[in-house]
Amino acid sequence: MIRFRTLWAAALTGCLALTACANPEPPPSPEVEVPVPLPDGIDFDPDIGSDPADTGCDPLASYEPDSIGAAEAREQLDDPDRVVVGISQSTNLMGYRDPVSGDLSGFDVDIAKELVERLVGSADDVQWVPMTSGEREEAVNSGRVDMVVRTMTMNCSRWEEVEFSTEYYHAGQRLLVASDSGIEGLQDLTGDHLVCTGAGSTSPRNIADDSEAQPVTVPDFNDCLVLLQQGVVDAITTDDTILAGMAIQDPTLEVVGEAFSEEPYGVAFAKGDTDLARFVNGALEDMIDDGTWQEIYDRWLAPHLGAEPPDLQTKYQDE
Ligand code: GLU
Repeated sequence: MIRFRTLWAAALTGCLALTACANPEPPPSPEVEVPVPLPDGIDFDPDIGSDPADTGCDPLASYEPDSIGAAEAREQLDDPDRVVVGISQSTNLMGYRDPVSGDLSGFDVDIAKELVERLVGSADDVQWVPMTSGEREEAVNSGRVDMVVRTMTMNCSRWEEVEFSTEYYHAGQRLLVASDSGIEGLQDLTGDHLVCTGAGSTSPRNIADDSEAQPVTVPDFNDCLVLLQQGVVDAITTDDTILAGMAIQDPTLEVVGEAFSEEPYGVAFAKGDTDLARFVNGALEDMIDDGTWQEIYDRWLAPHLGAEPPDLQTKYQDE
């Protein structure tokens, strides 16, 4: 898809002839429409569905570990010696390909590596499957992956589709804008503001509920960064973890306003893979107790989101 932006012809064509450049006062140039290439799947009027009325369950409550052993949990893997993990490979800080080493890196990636090591004995016995937000439920339920560790919020509607672990991070949705935009928070957004976010995520519903702005969705929220830089949209909204990674890439942008949603992250599994969920819950408890979780937080998020990590609640269902 292509959108048009108005630019001055003179600025684009530059000096085509020395004689023209020598002229101290060039004639005024007409405005021209310049096409801006847009990402595939961009939607300027997304259907964000009705309010899922996220009640009726405790989204944080998962399955008691019950001292389940790795051998038992591995029976729910497609191949008991290898774990196939859905991840993002383009989300700076959370899951991205290091341009120098070519390795996947980030908070989600390190949490996943640690879980894989505890489950099958080596973090090398993993197959990474990159995916967008909108692909996560289908990926676990079709058996394409054994688990998803990808900034995925646990909520009651998603619990109907997948199993979740206990909470391994607690994020919140915020706004990313150009520092000189004059937008300091939700209160400054009007119906004329276009706010870019990821399709298939919790973010479009949250921004529609909490502001006047018009959500614009793209399949991969990382495409929002270019759209903001091009001036096609006025702001980006998604989790603070993801926005922090975008802000690092462009010093003219800043994260503004308070968090306006709760985004507790869980590892997702196919419906029925409760042994895998139990094992991962035991591993997450151990990682919190033995300091591994804190090390991963300090490595990736503390420099950008503060030395004090958010509180995590480990909750189990009454069975
Ligand atoms: N945590 C939110 C979600 O799971 C937004 C981030 C994302 O799209 O991955 O929908």
